[in-house]
Amino acid sequence: MTIALMWFRRDLRLADNPALVQALAAHDRVVPLYIHAPDEEGEWAPGAAGRWWLHHSLAALDASLGKHRGALQIGHGPSLDALRAAIESTGATAVYFNRLYEPRVIRRDKAVRKALEADGIDVASFNASLWCEPWEVATKQDEPYRVFTPFWRNLRTRIDAVAAVEAPASMHLGALPGSVALDDLGLLPTRDWARGFDAWTPGEQGAQDMLQLFADDAVGHYVEGRDLPARHGTSRLSPHLHWGEISPLQIAAGLRAHAARHKKAPDIEPYLRQLGWREFAHHLLFHFPKTPRENFNPKFDTFRWAPRDAHALRRWKRGMTGIPIVDAGMRELWATGWMHNRVRMLVASLLTKNMRQHWVLGSKWFWDTLVDADLANNSLGWQWVAGSGADAAPYFRIFNPVTQSERFDKDGAYIRRWVPELRDAPGRLVHAPWEDQAFLKASGYPSPLVDLKATREDALTAYQASRGGRTLSADRAGD
Ligand code: FAD
Repeated sequence: MTIALMWFRRDLRLADNPALVQALAAHDRVVPLYIHAPDEEGEWAPGAAGRWWLHHSLAALDASLGKHRGALQIGHGPSLDALRAAIESTGATAVYFNRLYEPRVIRRDKAVRKALEADGIDVASFNASLWCEPWEVATKQDEPYRVFTPFWRNLRTRIDAVAAVEAPASMHLGALPGSVALDDLGLLPTRDWARGFDAWTPGEQGAQDMLQLFADDAVGHYVEGRDLPARHGTSRLSPHLHWGEISPLQIAAGLRAHAARHKKAPDIEPYLRQLGWREFAHHLLFHFPKTPRENFNPKFDTFRWAPRDAHALRRWKRGMTGIPIVDAGMRELWATGWMHNRVRMLVASLLTKNMRQHWVLGSKWFWDTLVDADLANNSLGWQWVAGSGADAAPYFRIFNPVTQSERFDKDGAYIRRWVPELRDAPGRLVHAPWEDQAFLKASGYPSPLVDLKATREDALTAYQASRGGRTLSADRAGD
């Protein structure tokens, strides 16, 4: 009888899991194993919200394995030691896993593979989280892409050919002596902070339900709906994608199947393109592994950030900047572990431009508080808004949070939901309550942390200085 280890990481699902399918096909018994080794991911080990999600996702995977008369086996890192101990105790001859693309994880996985192969163990790895691996898509000059549109054009020609693999119908699963209890990993917060996260259902079934909801309700209106934070206009699949509870292949197949059942099929292309941004982010992280901390565009290195302002940062984190749409977003994040994409752009713009705080300060906060915190997407998002990234919004394009709020949250429904001080604000005051000082005082809502107009000018001046004093023409400097 041959035994293999299935090393689960961020592929916490049974369907479309190529490593699992291959392990089951080649061996009589497979031991499903998760190894908790946060030290190996250094400063980018899962943050508090991510750990909450991970706990529940591991529990869901364990329950799914239970339906096949198995259970998720859990070990503590270092990963190599845990794998060797599992090999020793089970007599396994092979290890299967799905690849990840964060620089530290790649280094760890290479070292693990080398050591196990030297021990005489077969090691097989697969792609389970991307349509195409970062090295499979390249420019005509065989370089990595730095601009999204040509990257997407290339990727789009490939994705219809990639098909998801079915969940295994039956599994012969093995166990490990001394598997650790999930609760002993201490992943859940000790403070009563994540109560609002209960609206999420981590795990493979939760991901499928979310996809179904999106297909039924929102994909057909995605283009108009995706920018309106008060609506449920996006898929909210980001945490499920991050933890590998669903793959882009499954999403595309699910949406196509849904469209085929309907006479008036919705156009799913704009949504697929957005998933393309996720692939682009992984492409960039793989080829430019320093981007979680360093400017993608080195020309940005001369930019003079304002000194770190602990007081202002605290107000930003707590949703107390006095800029309603920004505070609504920061409070939504704290309460639910998620924030709408349009609002992520606005809060990041206020931090990096009006407050001129370094984008890493923002990306770190997101890292700790987002249930979908993802090194590739988060680094790309922050550098895009800051203007230092690949294919980024230019620095001089500074969002005006009031006009953005009036445009995308016209009647203030999103603000009213998250900022109760402004629930009854009349008309435009919900977007700019400082315009009526008597109302502002009575509401108990704070005065704005920054003067939007003056700080915008300061930011543009700092940007010009970093470019050797070159001035921007008036139209290019516009909002
Ligand atoms: P949908 O609109 O339904 O999109 C579907 C999927 O496409 C998303 O789940 C996501 O995987 C991908 N996607 C969509 N937009 C983007 C984008 N701009 N960049 C990369 N992938 C995208 N996304 C994360 O998953 N994790 C992060 O840590 C993260 N940090 C961000 C930080 C900033 C400052 C900004 C501006 C954006 C960030 N994003 C991040 C991207 C985006 O905001 C989220 O992916 C999106 O809001 C998730 O909601 P959704 O699943 O409903 O998205």
